[in-house]
Amino acid sequence: MFDGKLADSTCVFCGQCIMVCPVGALTSKVSMGKGKPAQTEKVMTTCTYCGTGCTFQLNVKDDQVVGVTSVRDSEVSPVNKGAMCVKGRFGWDFIHSPDRLTTPLIRKDGELVPASWDEALDLAASKLKAIKEKDGPDALALFSSARVTNEENYLAQKFARAVLGTNNVDHCARLCHASSVAGIGAAFGSGAMTNSIADFTGDSKCIFVIGSNTTENHPVIGYKIRKNVRFNGAKLIVADPREIELAGIADVYMQFRPGTDVALLNGMMNVILAEGLADHEFIAKRTENFEALKQVVEKYIPEYVETITWVPAEDIKKAARLYAQSGASAICYSMGITQHSTGTDNVKSCCNLAMLTGNLGRPGTGVNALRGQNNVQVACDMGALPVTYPAYQPVTNPEVRAKFEKAWGVALSPNIGLTVTQTIPAALHGHIKGLFVLGENPMVSDPDITHVEEALEKLECLVVQDIFLSETAQKADIVFPGLSFAEKDGTFTSTERRVQMVRKAVSGPGQAMNDWQIICELANRMGYPMNYASAEEIFTEMSTLTPSYGGMNYARLQGIGLHWPCPTPEHPGTPILHTEKFTRGLGLFHAVDFIEPVEVPDADYPFILSTGRSLYHYHTGTMTRRASGLKAHMPENCVQINSIIAARMGIKEGEMVRLSTRRGSIELKAQLLDSMKENVLFTYFHFVEAAANVLTNAEALDPVCGIPEFKVSAARLEKIV
Ligand code: SF4
Repeated sequence: MFDGKLADSTCVFCGQCIMVCPVGALTSKVSMGKGKPAQTEKVMTTCTYCGTGCTFQLNVKDDQVVGVTSVRDSEVSPVNKGAMCVKGRFGWDFIHSPDRLTTPLIRKDGELVPASWDEALDLAASKLKAIKEKDGPDALALFSSARVTNEENYLAQKFARAVLGTNNVDHCARLCHASSVAGIGAAFGSGAMTNSIADFTGDSKCIFVIGSNTTENHPVIGYKIRKNVRFNGAKLIVADPREIELAGIADVYMQFRPGTDVALLNGMMNVILAEGLADHEFIAKRTENFEALKQVVEKYIPEYVETITWVPAEDIKKAARLYAQSGASAICYSMGITQHSTGTDNVKSCCNLAMLTGNLGRPGTGVNALRGQNNVQVACDMGALPVTYPAYQPVTNPEVRAKFEKAWGVALSPNIGLTVTQTIPAALHGHIKGLFVLGENPMVSDPDITHVEEALEKLECLVVQDIFLSETAQKADIVFPGLSFAEKDGTFTSTERRVQMVRKAVSGPGQAMNDWQIICELANRMGYPMNYASAEEIFTEMSTLTPSYGGMNYARLQGIGLHWPCPTPEHPGTPILHTEKFTRGLGLFHAVDFIEPVEVPDADYPFILSTGRSLYHYHTGTMTRRASGLKAHMPENCVQINSIIAARMGIKEGEMVRLSTRRGSIELKAQLLDSMKENVLFTYFHFVEAAANVLTNAEALDPVCGIPEFKVSAARLEKIV
């Protein structure tokens, strides 16, 4: 698999060749010597990496996962139909890593040492209870996880509210798609991806990809987009500050200045209005506040937008015409749109563009926010958010609160809680004293990690539940060992709102326990009875309190799963939202003006630095950097630099450079690319030893949803001599 020539080629190591090889001559190196697929038990499950929601079989022998087989049958593998990416197919051996946590740990004399479950649970319960009694429930907070199951997310937020007594519960969507929840929610009434993957990639006549490196971050969706362009003649518009792979096959590629998304989108809308390409029937019947939009986009003539965005006016016009005239155009975006101090504005602008042209509520259209992690959609759906219970029911609504108080048998707080990006400063200032982190790693994932470290060190009690001793777990007072996706039953909800089964294939290591069982044990010790016999029992309770999941049960979820909303047992699920009317009734146009990013380059920091994901890694690398089939492809971080600029600075390919912002510096290898804009740099956020989030800005937050501006920092680059 890693033969030198192949590694230097454009192969993306998806392993499809292994699946289709008619004579079995090709095999996975990660599985070699572990038994033939035919000799293994097969357990159908859902991928633990990105939000695409691919399903496949784990191959099991002697209680060990020894391989992965993809399945072409669309009745059991509806999303990927046998296709997979390198992470799903070869990134599974972290499951049996010797680094897995096998016992609870507690801190004694400054060191984390093994402890019994009783000792660790009693200690955590007594410390959290003591803080609650001394400083009140709002001195406690919980970070839930985009990696654990739906059932565990439901229980985590229930634990925060019913046991800790606070709405201080949030998760990593605050760092990736909080602006989607806020922006799409404000425009349409439901803050989720509007269409299904199959229809927006397959039925679309024109796909507009903005701020999504789809072939790297959602590879199977990227493959489907390419297929639609190549075989069905769909038009492709790509807008991205980096020349991503899809740019190579685009009809129009707009390499715009990071942080100028609103100006670019307003420019396209200006052309659409000026050239009479708007869908006035749709606007009149289905939307409101159109006049305000019209007024605001008036000044964004393409020639003016070119001066802001660096995109030639002619390309803006061409993109606007293609998008408006195809008959079925879909917008597909990801963190390039959301991770800005204007993230919510960017999302609202995407919604404006779709409404202006009537590209909603039909196959092949929509505003398709691609969620990054496998289960980040559900962490939102299940109410691991400081403002809502499951299904986005507001904690401030007395009727809703009464429903949950009755169901959970306890009085609940009416106060809005703290977000992730508010919790860390609150800990730094001594307002948050106890934090429970479930399957998250803020010591690598959050902005300005020097401050995160200071904040965690100030806590009176940090409890971490994870499968590895992550950088955050290393700071904890108590560590609980949980289970990986291969060791548990439950459900995940993918980016397209499809709820699918996760099935236990092997036993967990040592004394590691189901994450939901750990939460129950802790709740019981804190005086709130929480007892379930199975994940299914939790799902049943959840579905009675979550209207959009109300018609789902495990029997119905076998096979291809169901798209929410699915409110009744007879309901077939909803692949496409807003078909007849928007969730909020009329779609709401927002008049959005362009605002510069918080940090712009200057003499001291002359570059614009963006951060993002790699094809080969996931989140903070705790799993992918322990997967031999992935580690080999990308063992360390690098910074992408324009080749001409690098030559001027005397920097050669692969040389070490120092990358600095006003927050700090990291040292990493240089990767030279002709395609990078001259004053733009890009680095990856998976690598703790050269952590991009040493550099990012925790103070540049979107004012609506609090997402940090990961995509724009003013930076300095130096050759290390
Ligand atoms: Fe897993 Fe995403 Fe790759 Fe599919 S595309 S195999 S869900 S990482």
